[in-house]
Amino acid sequence: AEDALRQAQKMEAVGQLTGGIAHDFNNLLTGIVGSLDLMQTRLSQGRMDNIERYAKAAMSSANRAAALTHRLLAFARRQPLDPKSVDANLLIASLEDLLRRTIGETIALDIAMGEGLWPTLCDPHQLENAILNLAINARDAMPDGGRLRIETVNTELDRAYARLHPGVEPGQYICISVSDTGTGMPADVIARAFDPFFTTKPLGQGTGLGLSMIYGFARQSDGHAKIDSQVGHGTAVKLYLPRSVDGEAEAGAVEAGAEVSRL
Ligand code: ADP
Repeated sequence: AEDALRQAQKMEAVGQLTGGIAHDFNNLLTGIVGSLDLMQTRLSQGRMDNIERYAKAAMSSANRAAALTHRLLAFARRQPLDPKSVDANLLIASLEDLLRRTIGETIALDIAMGEGLWPTLCDPHQLENAILNLAINARDAMPDGGRLRIETVNTELDRAYARLHPGVEPGQYICISVSDTGTGMPADVIARAFDPFFTTKPLGQGTGLGLSMIYGFARQSDGHAKIDSQVGHGTAVKLYLPRSVDGEAEAGAVEAGAEVSRL
């Protein structure tokens, strides 16, 4: 039953993803066909006005479509999950230098490690990627500087919380919160932020895949991801990952200086 549920969730994510891509791709094709149609009409009338403009528009849509398929391929190449018992505090400590370099000097980094943090069961490489992606989002939300805070804490999610968040099992989790003092997100952005390919960033700067991959990672790890944000004040993304019951945290599984795999 567990497997069936997981499979269903995977299919739902794939469906959402392909639906989103098909939609965007279709818009781009419509643009290309429209431009070509205008060019054809002009040429059949022996006119050359605006031909170059239409050719440029078609070319730009075609380039966007190529970029879209590129991102889809990168998304499909995602590494499979390889869960281990992980000490998130150690993992975050090993990322500290890279985080500092990523956010630059105008943003202060504040790491608050929960004491006696439970080990958690998840894929350490995906957790690294998740934290780095969240840091990049936080940086992008603080163009004029600010504070990035990463906090870990043991957390019990109770039945009331589980009822409010379908798919979440009550129990013991660690919470990794990545928060910033940036622009914040309006409600309509929060509502779509976990959707694949949803981005408010200019073309070429955002893929809209960061948060959707983080959400997928949390769910596949039997955890949960959530956004708390206030426009003008900042954003906190919270990752809840289940406490691992047996085995010790394998700090060795965590390599320092991991690569940022930002799609
Ligand atoms: P991308 O960063 O490529 O746009 P994401 O899936 O990571 O894709 O984020 C989707 C959108 O959510 C962003 O375009 C942005 O509008 C919003 N967002 C994400 N993180 C933050 C943050 N820390 N502060 C403000 N907005 C954010």
